[in-house]
Amino acid sequence: MTAAASLVDSFGRVHTDLRISVTDRCNLRCTYCMPLEVVFKPREELLTFEEITRVAGVAATLGIRTIRLTGGEPLMRRDLPELVRQLVAVPGIEEVAITTNGLLLAEQAADLRAAGLARLNVSLDSLTAHGFERIARRPGLDRVLAGLEAAKREGFAQIRINAVSIKGLTEAEIVPLTRFCRREGFHLRFIEFMPLDGEESWDTSQVLSGAEVRKLLERDIGPLVAENADHPGQPAIDYRWVDGGRVGFINPVSRPFCDRCDRLRLTADGQVRNCLFSTVEWDARSLLRGGGDDTSIATLIRDCVAAKRAAHGIDTPTFARPARAMYQIGG
Ligand code: SAM
Ligand code: SF4
Repeated sequence: MTAAASLVDSFGRVHTDLRISVTDRCNLRCTYCMPLEVVFKPREELLTFEEITRVAGVAATLGIRTIRLTGGEPLMRRDLPELVRQLVAVPGIEEVAITTNGLLLAEQAADLRAAGLARLNVSLDSLTAHGFERIARRPGLDRVLAGLEAAKREGFAQIRINAVSIKGLTEAEIVPLTRFCRREGFHLRFIEFMPLDGEESWDTSQVLSGAEVRKLLERDIGPLVAENADHPGQPAIDYRWVDGGRVGFINPVSRPFCDRCDRLRLTADGQVRNCLFSTVEWDARSLLRGGGDDTSIATLIRDCVAAKRAAHGIDTPTFARPARAMYQIGG
């Protein structure tokens, strides 16, 4: 990739990954993400598949190589496999993946696979119906488990499970979830709770750190060996048990990985963001709908990258939450 065709920010970070939110709608109401009562964006404010693919195409000419579809719940966007098909065909894009809560996966796994989806991350915090509902505030565990089965059947390799860790809420889920993932061959990753919940109740005292979760797992399951301590480029730190099975930790609060961040984001309503915690957005939708050419979209993306701050600053006294919550940005 030539320097002109790469998205390098003022701290030397090269951006190759684009997270695209396809909707702010969701069939769950996870406490750490959404408020119970939500007003969703009118549909006409969401980018069309053609608009999304156009931004992805321009981003690919600037060095974006991987795309992850997210939301809200991406599988709630009608005809999502069609979007996957379009994105897989974008020159320069090497991989299209998805993060989903899995509720609609059983119905869509085959179509997504046929469309060229490379990888799946499924979010799952509990293996009991009661625990699931306490966290997601809606039922759905059986459907997620059926979705995981379908994904396996379709031959998706390396299915990842994401679980958010929250003090006083998820401790009892950690060991059963880990045992389940070891048994099923899913790669489980625990994510620290970030200040992006829709009800704005986040507080540092609720953060159950990756180190604390690891201690719990070592106590109840057995000692862990670090797998990728030598690869500091990874946001997740992965561990394995000597007798088999792996587990990872994404620790954005206790061990921020901002110095290695290679991500850009496109919200469902067409705003480009350089960080989950950015308080500024770059309005691609106005360009797309106002007759802007590809050069103007490329300039907007470059400007967004150039303005990226060194770090999210959650751990600093001047930290200010973004105006939008996780489901509106795209996790
Ligand atoms: N609905 C899909 C899902 O849940 O997988 C995709 C969107 S969701 C916003 C993406 C990921 O963000 C999920 O794994 C979710 O657990 C995580 N997430 C949401 N809010 C979070 C928070 N406040 N802190 C940490 N992770 C969060
Ligand atoms: Fe929906 Fe995903 Fe947010 Fe849960 S984390 S409310 S499933 S968007």
